[in-house]
Amino acid sequence: MAKIGFIGLGNMGGPMAANLIKAGHDLKVFDLSEESVAKAVDAGASRAATIAEAAKDVAFVVTVLPAGKHVLSVYEGPDGVVANAAAGTVLIDSSTIEVDAARKAAELAKANGLGAVDAPISGGVTGATAGTLTFMVGGSDDDFARTEPILDGMGSNIIHAGTSGAGQAAKICNNMVLGVSMIAVSEAFMLAKRLGLDAQKLFDISSKASGQCWSLTTYCPVPGPVPSSPANRDYQAGFAVDMMLKDLKLAQQAAASSGATTPMGALAESLYALYSNGGNGGMDFSAIVKMLDGEK
Ligand code: NAD
Repeated sequence: MAKIGFIGLGNMGGPMAANLIKAGHDLKVFDLSEESVAKAVDAGASRAATIAEAAKDVAFVVTVLPAGKHVLSVYEGPDGVVANAAAGTVLIDSSTIEVDAARKAAELAKANGLGAVDAPISGGVTGATAGTLTFMVGGSDDDFARTEPILDGMGSNIIHAGTSGAGQAAKICNNMVLGVSMIAVSEAFMLAKRLGLDAQKLFDISSKASGQCWSLTTYCPVPGPVPSSPANRDYQAGFAVDMMLKDLKLAQQAAASSGATTPMGALAESLYALYSNGGNGGMDFSAIVKMLDGEK
């Protein structure tokens, strides 16, 4: 079992850290939120007072942070992860960030004798809690091989996508599908409502027909059909609107720089920006169904 530093104990990082502890690993945790640290300590982790302390004397450092700027700020500088981790430590970043930021983080780590993978995640808070996340990993064969047993404690699908940044590229593409499909499923439920078709009936039929997708069957945006979906708890995140907006922006930036044509992704970004600007950035991303129903 390994000694692991864990930084970022939010909606995803909190349950991921708990699963590593359950798998028998020895965790030192750090987060800006005292409440999140206290929860992890209750689950069996020890508390690191600083980022540097979380990075010292461990074999791995896992980060699950909001965006690229947070990951780079936690990695960089004399008090950061890279300067304080012992040679040979492998850095695992499971945040969703820009491909370029992931490559920069990996270069910084390698220049200091550390291993590094980008290992973004899919599966939501449900998957993080159940330990069934999908990890898409970018890094060398050697770093992937060393990382896989750790990721196994938090997920059920661990896929080596390619070299540094490839995990983030896969994540950005996947989440563009997710943003577009959530809007499509939400539109269908609102159309059904106006046509007098019961939501449960639409779910029963579409989940067995060609409209079947994750946004429908696992994360249904209307209350009722999927009891674990955020629609049943007033759309409390979950995966926040602003997180989805961030990922859709990443996809559009990547499309612009690579010359890809992504009109549905661009429209999804606009709709999520509109919903966020209405003061809903902290809601779960499936709450966009309310905007399509005519609510602010
Ligand atoms: P979150 O906001 O719930 O958690 C982020 C945590 O990072 C918070 O606890 C915050 O206090 C901490 N943090 C921020 N800056 C810090 C710093 N400098 N030092 C230490 N801690 C710091 O976010 P989340 O929903 O857990 O998402 C985390 C990442 O995972 C994001 O990149 C997101 O895009 C990705 N993701 C989220 C989901 C989801 O369903 N929530 C799914 C897949 C991927």
